[in-house]
Amino acid sequence: MISSIHERITQIRNSLPPSVKLIAVTKQMSAEVIRLAYAAGVRDFGENRIQEAASKQAELSDLSDITWHFIGHLQANKAKKALEQFDWIHSVDNLKLAQRLDQLASQLGVSCQVCLQVKILPDPQKSGWSVSELQADLPALDQCKNLQIQGLMTIPPFGLADTEILNVFHTTYQLAKEIQAQNWSHLKMAQLSMGMSGDYQLAVQAGATMVRLGTILFGKRT
Ligand SMILES: *Cc1c(COP(=O)(O)O)cnc(C)c1O
Repeated sequence: MISSIHERITQIRNSLPPSVKLIAVTKQMSAEVIRLAYAAGVRDFGENRIQEAASKQAELSDLSDITWHFIGHLQANKAKKALEQFDWIHSVDNLKLAQRLDQLASQLGVSCQVCLQVKILPDPQKSGWSVSELQADLPALDQCKNLQIQGLMTIPPFGLADTEILNVFHTTYQLAKEIQAQNWSHLKMAQLSMGMSGDYQLAVQAGATMVRLGTILFGKRT
């Protein structure tokens, strides 16, 4: 078990272009599993629940060079904890949440790297901006000077064919380029958080800079 996690991590890392950051998604995995991945060289970890992450982070406080990524839906009442516990929030999915995080980041004196979650195709199962909603909110997002908005995050709807998934990732890439070309004063669009175990190769092909992998590294969650 120990060596298999190590081997899978090594194998996947070697298969990724050096420009793509591997985020090991450790939701439902123990602090011990995180230590194994850390020993294999991983420094970026993704969690989707504030409370679950908090207990693991407490156990792992000796590993001070971990970068923690929040990737789950963030409720407004957990925004403060998210800022205190995480370096990145990939799943900022509406303007009100962004503005709340901006205000809290200023009060707490913390800096937070952010991706804006977009839905390229309609998907009632997920939150996030549609393309037109995002365009409309960009002026206000650019005013969130205490947030370091770095790019976009997307998750394709479940059940698409590979060509359709690739299309979603390509469209996300194009959208980031378009926004970048608008020369906003603060927000940046250099990062694309896209690709999970089942589709990360397509995401990398389309220009992902961060892939979020769980199952393929650690096996199926229960
Ligand atoms: C669980 C999760 C992942 C990892 O999914 P796998 O299919 O296990 O690789 C990636 N991103 C988000 C937002 C998740 O919730």
